[in-house]
Amino acid sequence: MAKKKDSRTAGEREGYFGRFGGQFVPETLVAGLDQLAREFPAAMADKAFVTEFDRCLREIAGRPSEMYFCRRFTEQLGGAKIHLKREDMNHTGAHKINNTLGQALLTLRMGKNRVIAETGAGQHGVAAATAAAVFGLDCEVYMGTEDIRRQALNVFRMELLGARVIPVTSGQCTLKDACNEALRDWMSSVETTHYILGSVTGPHPYPIMVREFQSCIGREARRQMLQAEGRLPDVIVACVGGGSNAAGIFVPMIEEKDVKMVGVEAGGRSMNLGDHAAPLCSGAPGVLHGSLSYVLQDQDGQTAPVHSISAGLDYPGVGPEHSYWKETGRVRYTSCSDDEAMDALVALSRAEGIIPALESAHAVSEAMKLAPTMSRDQIILINLSGRGDKDCNEIAAILERRKGAPK
Ligand SMILES: *Cc1c(COP(=O)(O)O)cnc(C)c1O
Repeated sequence: MAKKKDSRTAGEREGYFGRFGGQFVPETLVAGLDQLAREFPAAMADKAFVTEFDRCLREIAGRPSEMYFCRRFTEQLGGAKIHLKREDMNHTGAHKINNTLGQALLTLRMGKNRVIAETGAGQHGVAAATAAAVFGLDCEVYMGTEDIRRQALNVFRMELLGARVIPVTSGQCTLKDACNEALRDWMSSVETTHYILGSVTGPHPYPIMVREFQSCIGREARRQMLQAEGRLPDVIVACVGGGSNAAGIFVPMIEEKDVKMVGVEAGGRSMNLGDHAAPLCSGAPGVLHGSLSYVLQDQDGQTAPVHSISAGLDYPGVGPEHSYWKETGRVRYTSCSDDEAMDALVALSRAEGIIPALESAHAVSEAMKLAPTMSRDQIILINLSGRGDKDCNEIAAILERRKGAPK
């Protein structure tokens, strides 16, 4: 994707989080983004739209998701109480459905009949295909051939749901390349097509729109925590790929100065460039997919290859609001290695009977480090962004390779 100048004048700071964000796109995308930037706030101010979105969250996604106190896990770690926000219990198995339902409703409101999406692991693709099936929209999903190979089950699910999966053969043949192709499609199809972007990334207004569609997570968690504990948590922990599940749980409590927030990126095999997917921990500001944010790049400013055990975190960029929260110090960002995530996945499975997604296991790992350093009357809330069923083939292969796999 060509790096274009921000289309708006310097005086217009809408769509910025501090110095991050913006709308760095070719001219052909500006009309579509402008339409979205008008339609999204209008929809959110329209009672009928909000009521319909709430109904979808309830009847299709299965919300509200439970908040669950981990009795045994807390006991084992011997410190702060651990609660989970159970996004793994949503229809299709993760938080992604919240966003795709919202954007599908917006597609109908704009009078369009086709949606496109990018996907890495296939989770966002499945969530988009599901929302498209619910509302009878045509759906095409761009997916790198490397991911198509690794995530055959999700390719099958998308096709079963009536979507078409379009193989992408450029670059590393993964998520970044799929995003490029989806944006390219949208440049020539914006009249009839809405691009359902999967995280709080991309040009304005996507970071705000996706955050708002995901903020049901934090609003419910706030209410549930007050009910269960009579107060808000001391720490909220969430994994960060593009940053949508984290933004969704953080934002409704972001003004609460006593609530600490931690975002966990993919530390991969090592912190050498190419071995991880942790732009906030070790990247630098740059433009990727239409907005200015932290990006993993080499000395020439080329976007670097990335690695993570979890396909959903395997992305060289991150949402611009997270870059802002990093620089203002509101959120602490850290990373967890592939091995630590695997250990956390096994530990939670055995302590609570809950197999988390490999992505979510990154947040669990950070909580395992924090809990023993905290007192027994303190509270950690983990956003359990998804379930691990999709990862079981991968998990089995890794445990097989590992010497001394847990007994
Ligand atoms: C896609 C995905 C993520 C990463 O995306 P964010 O936008 O950072 O939330 C995390 N967890 C699960 C289960 C996912 O499917």
